[in-house]
Amino acid sequence: MATIGVVGAGIAGLVCAQVLQQYGHQVVVYEKSRGVGGRMATRRLAGTCADHGVRYLEPEGEALRHLLGVLHDHHVVRAWRGAIAQMLSDGSCHFLTPSRRYIAREGVNAVAKWLAVGLDIRRQHRVTAIAPVAKQGWQITFADEHPDTWADALVLAIPAPQAVDLLTPLTPLGLPLPVLDAVRAVEFSPCISAIATYSHEQGEFLDYSQAWHGIQFDTHPDLAWISFETSKRPSLIPDKATPPVFVFQSTAAFAEQYQDAQDLQPAGITLIQQAAQALYDWLDKPVDLYVHRWRYAFAQCSYPGPYIATQTPLPLLCCGDWCGGQQVGGAIASGLQAATYFQQKLGDTPAALSFHELVQALCDRYSAEPA
Ligand SMILES: Cc1cc2nc3c(=O)[nH]c(=O)nc-3n(C[C@H](O)[C@H](O)[C@H](O)COP(=O)(O)OP(=O)(O)OC[C@H]3O[C@@H](n4cnc5c(N)ncnc54)[C@H](O)[C@@H]3O)c2cc1C
Repeated sequence: MATIGVVGAGIAGLVCAQVLQQYGHQVVVYEKSRGVGGRMATRRLAGTCADHGVRYLEPEGEALRHLLGVLHDHHVVRAWRGAIAQMLSDGSCHFLTPSRRYIAREGVNAVAKWLAVGLDIRRQHRVTAIAPVAKQGWQITFADEHPDTWADALVLAIPAPQAVDLLTPLTPLGLPLPVLDAVRAVEFSPCISAIATYSHEQGEFLDYSQAWHGIQFDTHPDLAWISFETSKRPSLIPDKATPPVFVFQSTAAFAEQYQDAQDLQPAGITLIQQAAQALYDWLDKPVDLYVHRWRYAFAQCSYPGPYIATQTPLPLLCCGDWCGGQQVGGAIASGLQAATYFQQKLGDTPAALSFHELVQALCDRYSAEPA
């Protein structure tokens, strides 16, 4: 049994940690934020919530398809039957062919919370340095005066540019240069998400059953996506309708203008003004506006394999949506295959756990130990 540190409690880190724990390793996950899920993010609002990272889940890839089936049976996710439209450069809209899309009533972050059950997760632990120490293993150093800790092996389940910060000081200590170069070659694009809430009066005319529930902009310079979040969860409070909530997501080019901005409100205001011009004029008069910057939103130029691994100077693995696949399906597949690789290298039993068995074990654990 090895002690394994997993840096990052996004979907890739959670899946990897669960599989390694199922194999009997002692796994600790270190997460810089207060919550789990990373870009699978949901913001709580009065009586409702909004997904300001992942928009919805599509059953792409065998592992995600299976997981969504199980989560659907456990009422964690449900089908989102909302119509998705595509806005063209001339301002016309046409509806996309319906396909299977899943959302969670409690917000898409509920999927990450489900995967986190039973794991030892140290929240608000930002890893600032990792260093190999002879005969002791990896030394892990944190921000905010948390004491250093140790692990036999490390998994970096974080976006590639953030992994580069931790890996660069390791090359004089024995990290093979091709490993660092492979991680450095991966590029991410940014995105700005704005959540806007409106009054009941403003949204009065919206026909919840007929209206579009999401709009994809393919040629707009600033807007990439708008979702009518209220269509995902009419109300979390019984007998009380929640006011309309929308999420606006920007293009990468728009977000790049705000990479160093301290105050993101102007970015959010510009996005809702653009939406008001394209759709309803009241969209630029929200009751509340929350703006979030994703510096590393989408992997643009991925690594071709499902993980990057090295045994020198000590066992180390990088995984995430930027390894081999893309988006949530890719992150799950990467976390899964990374864990299987580590088990083959570190374990005294061969890797034989299928994703179906892992999910079944989680279902059993979930019923025994509710979150
Ligand atoms: C706006 C937006 C919309 C999206 N829409 C969709 C969609 O509709 N469908 C879809 O499939 N995908 C979508 N994606 C992509 C999807 O969110 C990602 O592919 C997936 O969530 C990546 O998971 P991950 O575990 O690889 O990384 P992350 O989710 O980024 O997880 C990494 C974790 O590591 C933590 N971390 C980073 N550095 C450190 C450190 N030094 N110490 C400790 N912790 C650290 C972070 O806080 C984070 O929790 C979207 C992404 C964004 C930003």
